[in-house]
Amino acid sequence: MSNVPDIFGSMVFNDKVMRQRLPKDTYKALRRTIASGRHLDLDVANVVATAMKDWAVEKGATHFTHWFQPMTGVTAEKHDSFIAPSGDSVIMEFSGKELVRGEPDASSFPSGGLRATFEARGYTAWDPTSYAFLKDGTLCIPTAFCSYSGEALDKKTPLLRSMDAIDRQAMRILKLSGDTEATRVMTTVGPEQEYFLIDKKMYEQRPDLIYCGRTLIGARPPKGQELDDHYFGSLKPRVSAYMHELDEELWKLGILAKTKHNEVAPAQHELAPIFTSTNVAADHNQLTMELMKKVADRHGMACLLHEKPFAGVNGSGKHNNWSICTDTGDNLLEPGSTPSHNLRFLLFLAAVIKAVDEHQDLLRISVASAANDHRLGANEAPPAIISMFLGDELADVLDALENGTMYEDRGTTQMEIGARVLPHFLRDTTDRNRTSPFAFTGNKFEFRSLGSAFSISGPNVVLNTIVADALCGFADTLENSTDFERDAAKLVRDTVKNHKRIIFNGNNYAPEWISEAEQRGLLNLRSTVDALPYFIRPENIALFTRFGVFTETEIRSRYEILLENYSKTLHIEALTMIDMVKKDVLPAVLTYEGELTGLACGKKQLGVSAALETAMLEKLTDLGASLSAKLASLEETVITAEDAEDAAQTARFYHDKVFLGMGELRATADELETLIPAKYWPLPTYAEMLYSIK
Ligand code: ADP
Ligand code: MG
Repeated sequence: MSNVPDIFGSMVFNDKVMRQRLPKDTYKALRRTIASGRHLDLDVANVVATAMKDWAVEKGATHFTHWFQPMTGVTAEKHDSFIAPSGDSVIMEFSGKELVRGEPDASSFPSGGLRATFEARGYTAWDPTSYAFLKDGTLCIPTAFCSYSGEALDKKTPLLRSMDAIDRQAMRILKLSGDTEATRVMTTVGPEQEYFLIDKKMYEQRPDLIYCGRTLIGARPPKGQELDDHYFGSLKPRVSAYMHELDEELWKLGILAKTKHNEVAPAQHELAPIFTSTNVAADHNQLTMELMKKVADRHGMACLLHEKPFAGVNGSGKHNNWSICTDTGDNLLEPGSTPSHNLRFLLFLAAVIKAVDEHQDLLRISVASAANDHRLGANEAPPAIISMFLGDELADVLDALENGTMYEDRGTTQMEIGARVLPHFLRDTTDRNRTSPFAFTGNKFEFRSLGSAFSISGPNVVLNTIVADALCGFADTLENSTDFERDAAKLVRDTVKNHKRIIFNGNNYAPEWISEAEQRGLLNLRSTVDALPYFIRPENIALFTRFGVFTETEIRSRYEILLENYSKTLHIEALTMIDMVKKDVLPAVLTYEGELTGLACGKKQLGVSAALETAMLEKLTDLGASLSAKLASLEETVITAEDAEDAAQTARFYHDKVFLGMGELRATADELETLIPAKYWPLPTYAEMLYSIK
């Protein structure tokens, strides 16, 4: 193992490198740009570009790319070399213009119709708040991706806008509360990432894993996760070697990979980084997912990031730990030790409570995908109902506050809410509830509904914007107040009173919660197609446009993309499944049927019991016939899907009909798998895949 401090960030053009390599004035100008989020002068950009290029070339780079995050959910890059002709030779060149702006011919990225009406061109613009880095001999410049007329075509642009929105609103509150030091507020995120590792040879034999990321057929293994013996279990040597290399690769890119352990399901693992600013965390998480796959390949394994690779086995999610902090280092969701800090904490807490209650639909949409539909509400992940967990202690505080009574700490402190003294919460007194979609964990919130393959951008765009909205309302009220403390306390009290239905400290997996939530008037948007139409409601369009996070056109285009994405995913799954049943399952059935027929007819030596063989043959014939019928029906359904009128109808059809047909076909295929001897079954089984790594 190399020396970690030496390798950490060695592939990043970070602050240390900038300070060493840039002239003092340029460095200062760049820092100002980073701090203020304003444009960079071309003169400065030219100097930065040359320094970046020299640094990259010294480390063996030959190319550069504008690295961006189109609406596909993965990252995109188009590589240009640094070469410029010079006589008979070449020199390595990189200009400020090339650094700050690129024009990839990106007309094939999803735009939800945005570019059809404008121009096919899109351009990328450097985001100086995220450092450039080296990957595979290429200098990667994190960029935003926009249409020619400025509409966002990516996941980074709205995230940066939402960070600005919450910055502006939170600063208003801080000024009112007498904070004269903070000049900026940013949100921070530490995303915990779950994944599966299986043997690459087996992966390569499963078209469903290759094309869809999840198994479309496969009977459950005799041993699942019943024993809970995998959770935090000791690491197998191959997994351990993989994790070591992954950590090193991440550290080189300045990614703060911190904890790693086995997860609940066999072959499932988790990696968590130390939190950083949301924008950087989003970039880092994309890189982490990319490297997880690359490093797995080098170790003869495949890393599965799909939300539900194996039916009947826990799927994978991502926990988005989120907080708000000032540039002076104060965590605004951390209960303080002084009365004024506590009031501030309660205000921000109340803002989050109000935001989550008022915008359940947006939070739900932000975690909606065909793949995540397999998890949410399936008693392994939070339900589709959005609620919040605050923990007993905080709930007591809020109760006391609401009722104007004395709060008695479970320990010794007694406090009168009017006197505004809160005990300093101990982190481990909170978060005993792992079933909540949105849990307060002492000094941050953990949004647990994200799917493992998600870009964390969308959920954080929503979180930042809805909390900005709540803070804006608070600031409007408090700016007219003559007694900040009195009115802020009242605001907290009123907010808790009006929005406490969103707080639920019980078991979110319990069936009773569904009816209780309904009584409370909470939304239960079960599937992606149920949730998505809320995105284009007038109040949501008004919200995003008010804070400059999305234009109405951008929202409508994203809505289209999300719907199309849903339908396309199911379309590909259905076609893959049809193909596998035809080419793998049916032939296995026929071969085994042939074998049994031969035995039963006495052509070969009779088995122990001809009756047994005949019975088996009958069962197999019945199931085989059922399989063929369901296959034909699914094929028919997929063809019909193309007749739907608009994107919303198509998605609905895929949800109601195609998905159902796939489930039925699968049930029969899985039953057949349990009957057919291994030697005739062409696909690696669940047991083989889940226990493939030693
Ligand atoms: P737990 O294991 O109980 O969920 P940890 O302290 O291990 O809690 O944190 C989990 C994740 O939360 C880590 O990625 C960590 O960096 C992140 N985290 C901690 N504090 C913050 C914060 N203030 N803002 C955002 N993320 C945070
Ligand atoms: Mg956690």
